[in-house]
Amino acid sequence: MADQPVSPALEPAELRWSDGVPESVQFGDVYFSRDDGLAETRHVFLDGNNLPQRFRALPAGSHFVIAETGFGTGLNFLSAWKEWLDQRPGEDKGILHFVSVERYPLTREDLARALELWPALSDQADELIRHYPPLLKGTHRLVLAGGRVRLTLYFGDVLDAWQALDFQADAWFLDGFAPAKNPDMWLEQAIKLIRQHSRPGSTLATFTAVGRIRRALAGAGFAMAKVPGFGRKRDMLTGHLDGPAPASVTGDEPIVIVGAGIAGTTLARNLADRGLQVILLDRAREPGEEASGNPQGALYVKLGIEYNAQTELSATALAFSQRFYQPWQGQFWHPTGLLQLATTEQEADRQRRFLARNRYPEQLLKPVNPEQASELAGLPVESDGLWFPGSGWLEPARACRTLAQHDNIERRFGHQVSHIERQGEHWLVHHDQGEPIRTLRLVVAGGHQSASLLPEGDRLRLKNIRGQISSLPAARFNLPDIVISGTKYLNPAHGDHAVTGATFDLHDDNPSETPESHRHNLQELRQMLPAVVGDDTVQPDTLTGRVSFRCTTHDYQPAAGPLSGAGGSGPPGLYLLGGFGSKGLAWAPLLAEHLADCLTGQPSCLPAHLCRRVQPNRLYPK
Ligand code: SAM
Repeated sequence: MADQPVSPALEPAELRWSDGVPESVQFGDVYFSRDDGLAETRHVFLDGNNLPQRFRALPAGSHFVIAETGFGTGLNFLSAWKEWLDQRPGEDKGILHFVSVERYPLTREDLARALELWPALSDQADELIRHYPPLLKGTHRLVLAGGRVRLTLYFGDVLDAWQALDFQADAWFLDGFAPAKNPDMWLEQAIKLIRQHSRPGSTLATFTAVGRIRRALAGAGFAMAKVPGFGRKRDMLTGHLDGPAPASVTGDEPIVIVGAGIAGTTLARNLADRGLQVILLDRAREPGEEASGNPQGALYVKLGIEYNAQTELSATALAFSQRFYQPWQGQFWHPTGLLQLATTEQEADRQRRFLARNRYPEQLLKPVNPEQASELAGLPVESDGLWFPGSGWLEPARACRTLAQHDNIERRFGHQVSHIERQGEHWLVHHDQGEPIRTLRLVVAGGHQSASLLPEGDRLRLKNIRGQISSLPAARFNLPDIVISGTKYLNPAHGDHAVTGATFDLHDDNPSETPESHRHNLQELRQMLPAVVGDDTVQPDTLTGRVSFRCTTHDYQPAAGPLSGAGGSGPPGLYLLGGFGSKGLAWAPLLAEHLADCLTGQPSCLPAHLCRRVQPNRLYPK
């Protein structure tokens, strides 16, 4: 079916509102009780799983996993979130993970309208609405409440979700409309998967008391009970699995990260926010001095024509990074929007085929014609393009410095790491400032220098590609209000300069700026956007810029995960984060989240097929 059009945008829920309460037109059922949805949620799902007491009893720093069938309006989720904060006040670094699936997601507007009903949850609702992902099929991770609550929201069918996601639940909310109205949610196969994703001691609760469901859950191994239902409903069901409920507390030995570019600093920050201690090393004097050290960098990805795993990973990473940088808007993050212009015939053809084959949510991207493009850019543009309203540009070095500031991050700069060595259970990190550092878990995030530190690093299929940017004096160019990408990219003015570039120089290891590279950048810019350059004859050798080396993999896909050497048999505890090429700003947040999930044994933010795609052992040739 390779040439069938694929549609990554999902069909949203069609709602009918009666007396202010939403009903699903697709299913002919209500999302929650007309009597009092919030009280119903508390009774059926929170109390049905004994959550208030269980939350309170957990040791400090624990994580707890709730899984739900049917995200709907998010009422259950917000109630669980509020309960978590109420029961675990203060500085506890434990995390509530909530994993949910939705086949027909509400639009953001409908979500906002539905959640207006619950003033008691308005803080949580506002945050959810702000972070609500584009209606793009696949897995979305939302980091909320300063990281104390993490939502993994799968947009798609329930069976696909439970096959794709890797997690073990402590409690289940089975909330997929009445079994008679929606048998698909309650298939034997779905129940089998629920059992497979349940830890010993896990519990479940559901509003229904249908005998077939009770028997199917009992058949899967849950001890089931009929208990009083909410309001006019006489009965509902609860269930539990036998066995001790092991607490999930993440180990407290520090994790060592080598490399303080955008990869290393996003990971360090992520782990530090989760309450872990991190030692962050770099040979430079400050974070973000090498490939992440440009004064401006565009947040973009190039989406393939086919909506395959590679495209899914790019789209998911882009949407995640836009949410991730939000708190730093106006500091190092400038969400001006980004225009991907079709300035060559080849790119115009590619964009036409891309648009014919796919339908993307407009929150992520939409096509624009030259008039619209000119309007957005604030200068004449002659090509069609794709408009990414949530993208923009960053100050990468400043981002790295800001991310690395955290009480749980011990920064060791000016430390040149020479090599790493296995000793017993530990990794030893040898550097030029004294005793080696011992650690159980070591992450190499050293960009183009990573290979030299890793076992059999010379065999890893990583390559370094030189890139030189040029800084254009704002006074002499007609600069856009937004980021424009095409054969190259151009940023809006930042102070009195704007960065354009970068060159893409394979097999060139010259670390110095060259006038040829500036000339090349100017030429490309003149072709891509004649209106920017105008009649000005800026001499390339008067420009300044910067050279750095991107680290790219053989398949141009990033790497994040454990690295166990050629043949996959090396000792554990070593991880790689990198191979981001020129897309580090877009890859780093999601892949740091993924690696942090993996390092702490928490539910993964990536579905299994994308975990496989980014796993670093693939970099060793077979
Ligand atoms: N928990 C929700 C809340 O707090 O608002 C209410 C859930 S509502 C009763 C059931 C949800 O399941 C609907 O949003 C529906 O679209 C979704 N759903 C139904 N069938 C599904 C399927 N096969 N896969 C995934 N989601 C499905």
